[in-house]
Amino acid sequence: THDIHIIGGGLAGSEATWQLARRGYKVRLSEMRGGSDTTPAHQGDGLAELVCSNSFRSDDDARNAVGLLHHEMRRLDSIVMRAGEIARVPAGSAMAVDRDVFSAAVERELLDHPNVTVVRERVDTLPADGPTIVATGPLTAQSLAENIVAATGEDRLAFFDAIAPIVHRDSIDMDICWFQSRWNKGDGKDYINCPMTKDQYLAFHQGLMDGEKIAFREWEQDTPYFEGCMPIEVMAARGVDTLRFGPMKPVGLDNPRDATPEFPQGRWPYAVVQLRQDNKLGTLWNMVGFQTKLKHAAQVELLRTIPGLENAEFARLGGLHRNTFLNSPLVLDRQLRLKSASHIRFAGQVTGCEGYVESSAIGLLTGLMAAAELGGRDWTPPPRTSAMGALLSHVTGDAEAETFQPMNVNFGLFPPLHDVKKKARKEAYTDRAKADFGSWLQAEQLEPA
Ligand code: FAD
Repeated sequence: THDIHIIGGGLAGSEATWQLARRGYKVRLSEMRGGSDTTPAHQGDGLAELVCSNSFRSDDDARNAVGLLHHEMRRLDSIVMRAGEIARVPAGSAMAVDRDVFSAAVERELLDHPNVTVVRERVDTLPADGPTIVATGPLTAQSLAENIVAATGEDRLAFFDAIAPIVHRDSIDMDICWFQSRWNKGDGKDYINCPMTKDQYLAFHQGLMDGEKIAFREWEQDTPYFEGCMPIEVMAARGVDTLRFGPMKPVGLDNPRDATPEFPQGRWPYAVVQLRQDNKLGTLWNMVGFQTKLKHAAQVELLRTIPGLENAEFARLGGLHRNTFLNSPLVLDRQLRLKSASHIRFAGQVTGCEGYVESSAIGLLTGLMAAAELGGRDWTPPPRTSAMGALLSHVTGDAEAETFQPMNVNFGLFPPLHDVKKKARKEAYTDRAKADFGSWLQAEQLEPA
C-alpha cells in the first residue's frame, strides 16, 4: 500500500518522491527503464539519469536565475542538489557533475528510504483514482502519451517543440522599431516591428542559408515540419522571397520613421521582423514565426543583424526537438493538477518547463503540493518574485497558451524592477527573491530541520 503513485523516475519524479518520503508519505515510484523499456535518449537504468550534458548550468545565486533556483532548491533539501554536490566536478562558476555518481547517489538515497518502493514497470494509462504524479518527461512512452491525449483532448499534448527565439523587451531598440499590428487591427499596438531594407533582407537571407544548423538526432528524423511552424532556414531555402511572403511580410506595416508628406503614416519597409508579447508581465517578446535549428552562436550573431535587435538579449533561443509537453496554461490548474481529473498532477519537463534544474524544481514543488494535500493543509505557492514562484506561475497560466513552448528559468519571468538601473538589476532580482522566499519558507514551516 502507498499514499501516492509517482510515474517516471527521472529528475522530477525522483525529486517529488524524495520530498514526499521525507515528510512521511509512502510512495510507489514506477520507472519503465530497468524493466523491458527505455527512451531513445537514456543510456542506462539509473534513476535521474542526465541524458545529455552533465551541467546544471550557473551556480551563481547572486546574478543568475538558474543559480537562484539552485539556492532555493537547496533550502528545501533537494535530493537533486544534494546528489549534485556529492557528484560535483570542477566547472568554474557552473555546477557540473559526474553523471554516473549523480544518478547512483539519487538512486541509493531513494532505495534506502523506508517510505519508497521503486517498481520497474511501464504505466500505460492514467490511474482512475488515487493521488498520482506523472513525471514521464520529454520522451514519455507512446502508450501513456496517447492516454494523456485522450484525457486532455487533441492539441493539448505536443510531441515536438517548435521554438521561436524570445527577446527581453528592455533590450529592443525602440528608436528603430515601432509598435503596430498589421493594418492597425486589434488595438493596433500588439506587435513590435523591426524594419529591413532590401540590402539588409538579402544579407539576412544569405546568413540563414550559410549559418550552421543543428542536425536532428537519429530518432528525431521524422520530426514533422508543420505549415505555420517551419524553420526559417527551411523557408529561406525555398526561395529568396519566401520569407518576405511569410513571417517577414511587410504589408500593412507603416514605418513612422519613413513618413513623407505623401505618406504621413510612414511607408512599408522591404521586409519586417515582428515580435509579439509572450508573457502577461510584458517583459518577454517572441519573434513571430522564427523557429529555427541554427546553432545557438550562429543564431545570436544573425538575429543581432536585424535592425533594432543589435543589442538583443535572448531569454530563449530557437529550436526544434522531440519533446512531449502539455499546454499547461490550458489543461492544468495552479497546483499542476489536471483540470479534468484533479487526483493527477504533472511534474517536470512534461509541464512545459525546460532543463534538468527546472524539471527537478517543478518535481520538488509537486512533491510539496501533494504533501500539503495528503496532510489536509492549504497550499500557498512560493512567491512570484522567487525563481520557483516565477517558473511555476509561467507554466500554470502566465504564459500565453496559444504560443506556449518550453521555457528555461530567466529573469524575464520575474515581476519587473523598472526602477533599478540595468547594471544592478540582476542582484536586485536575487536579493528580492531570497528575502521573499525566506519569508515564505518560514510562514509555511518548510525550512528543513
Ligand atoms: P526525465 O528525466 O526524462 O524522466 C522521465 C522518466 O520517465 C524517464 O526515466 C522515463 O524512462 C520514464 N518514463 C517515461 N514514460 C514512462 C511510462 N509510461 N511509465 C514509466 N516510466 C516512464 N536539459 C538540460 O538541462 N541540459 C541538457 O543538456 C539537456 N539535453 C537534453 C537532450 C535530450 C535528447 C533531451 C530529450 C532532453 C534534454 N534536456 C536537457 C532536457 C532534460 O531531459 C529534461 O529537462 C530532464 O531530464 C527532464 O526531467 P524529467 O524528470 O521531466 O524527465
